Amino acid sequence: MKDTTNENHLDFVGDDLAINFINTRRMVEGQLTDTLQSDSDVKAWLRRLEVPVAKGSLPFGDGVLLKGARGLREIALAAVQDRKSGKKPSLGALNRFLADAPSHAVLTTDTANNIRMTRVYGKQTVEAFLTPVAEAVADVLADGDFNLVRHCEGNACVLWFYDRTKGHRRRWCTSAGCGNRAKVAAFRARARQT
Ligand SMILES: [Zn+2]
Repeated sequence: MKDTTNENHLDFVGDDLAINFINTRRMVEGQLTDTLQSDSDVKAWLRRLEVPVAKGSLPFGDGVLLKGARGLREIALAAVQDRKSGKKPSLGALNRFLADAPSHAVLTTDTANNIRMTRVYGKQTVEAFLTPVAEAVADVLADGDFNLVRHCEGNACVLWFYDRTKGHRRRWCTSAGCGNRAKVAAFRARARQT
């Protein structure tokens, strides 16, 4: 049966921008699927996750954003896997992304004259445009607690999450998805034994 729930809800199960970015490759109806298939998929994902990227049209050609995003995702996944398994992660590729990242702070006021500081990112290169994502990856690698960065225990599931639950006992990407499948499997195994 086709899952009729909105697939985009899986955009947030990582509970961390960098992990959510890695999770844009996921199992859909039993197939490993890249949910990023075009520049507009990347832009839509950035919008949904409220990533503060530069506004307006981009000065680079068709497909460049998709290629850049997929490249960054590969770098992020490799570094997260290395960090998780205690291997020395290779950081050169990520550092090259970060080096191409001009941004500056900007102050704005709201109607009550509260002052907010946000950052404005560039868009002259795809690396600059994707800086907020690259910085999120850098943040989780440098400051993340990798006891809490975990892979979903679901069979064949490729999703990761940052366990921010109070008891830190999260095991699944979603309780309705992998969590429920595991519960059903355990129930069947018990039933077979009786
Ligand atoms: Zn899962």
